[in-house]
Amino acid sequence: MARNQPRPEATSELRLEPMDNHCPICEGKLWVAYHNARTVATLSGLVRLRLVIRRCVNPECALYQRSRRPEQEGAFALPQGEFGLDVIALVGALRHAEHRSVPEIHRELSGRGVGISERSVTNLLDRYEELVALRLSGNAGLRKRLEEQGRAVVAIDGLQPDVGHEVLWVVRECLSGEVLLARSLLGGTSEDLAPLLEEVADALPVAVEGVISDGQHAIRKAVARTLPGVPHQLCQFHYLREAAKDIYEADRHAKKELKKRVRGVRPIERELEGRNDPEAEAMRGYCLAVRSAITDDGRPPLAASGLKLHERLSAIHDSVERVGKKGSESPES
Ligand SMILES: [Zn+2]
Repeated sequence: MARNQPRPEATSELRLEPMDNHCPICEGKLWVAYHNARTVATLSGLVRLRLVIRRCVNPECALYQRSRRPEQEGAFALPQGEFGLDVIALVGALRHAEHRSVPEIHRELSGRGVGISERSVTNLLDRYEELVALRLSGNAGLRKRLEEQGRAVVAIDGLQPDVGHEVLWVVRECLSGEVLLARSLLGGTSEDLAPLLEEVADALPVAVEGVISDGQHAIRKAVARTLPGVPHQLCQFHYLREAAKDIYEADRHAKKELKKRVRGVRPIERELEGRNDPEAEAMRGYCLAVRSAITDDGRPPLAASGLKLHERLSAIHDSVERVGKKGSESPES
C-alpha cells in the first residue's frame, strides 16, 4: 500500500519463535534459517514483530529446507497484513453490529490512535467480509496446499472488539499461516466453539496434529470433545501478553515516580557553569548520567523501562555515595 509518510516507530516489540525446535517428520533439530521483521498496527499500538524462521536441514527429510514460521504470527495479522486482526474484528463489529459508515469507523479508529486512511478502512472491511465468508470445503487451492504439507496444526483465537457483544473467532492453520474459518459469535462457550472446530476438522484434507490456544476453559473443552487425543498446546505468548499488561502499567508508574525524584538537574548544571575544577567535572558527569538514564526508553513488554531506570539511578546513587565517603574520609587519612 502506498504511503505518503513513513510509519512512526513501533511502540512495542515482540520476538516470536516456532514453538517446537524439532522437525515433525525426521525429529531432527530445526535450525534458525533467518530472521524476519514486520510491523503491525494493532489497537494497542504499533507492534514490531521479530520473527525467527527455522528449517529442517536433513536432506533426507520431506520437510528439508521448508520454512517454519512462529505459530503466533498469524494471531496478530493476516499474511502480509499491515493491520492487526483485532483492528479487522473491530471494523467488522462497528459495521455490522453498530451499522456505522466507513467515515465513522475511520474516525473511531483514528480516535483510538490507529493511523489509517479511509481507503484502508474499506480494505479492512473487505478483508473482514472475506474472512467470515470463508469456506474451507470450497477452497480447492488451500486444500491442495494443506494436502502437500501433509498435516495441520490448528490455532483458535477469540478477538473481542469492545463494541457490541460479538467475538470474532478465528481458526488458523499454523504451518501454512492460512485462516481456515472465522465466525462472529455472540457467545464463547464450548457449545459455541465445538461446531467451528468440527467444521474445520471435517473439511481438512489432512489430520490435525496439534491445537494451539490461550487455554481458556471453553476452548479446552471444545478441543477435547471434537479432537480427542490431539495434543493441545497452550501458547506462552498469550500468558505473556496478559501478564505484560499489569507489568507494563506497574512499570510505567514506577518510572514516573522515579523521574520525580531526580528533578532539578538543570539548576545544578547552571550552577556549575564556568567552573572547570575536577569536582565540577565530576558533578557534570553525574548530571549527564541522570539525564541519559531518564531519556533512555525500553520497549514494552520485554524491556521494562522503569526497571532499567531504577538500575541506572541505583548505579549513579552508589557511585555518588562512594565518592562522598572518600571525600569525607580523605582529609583525616
Ligand atoms: Zn525433517
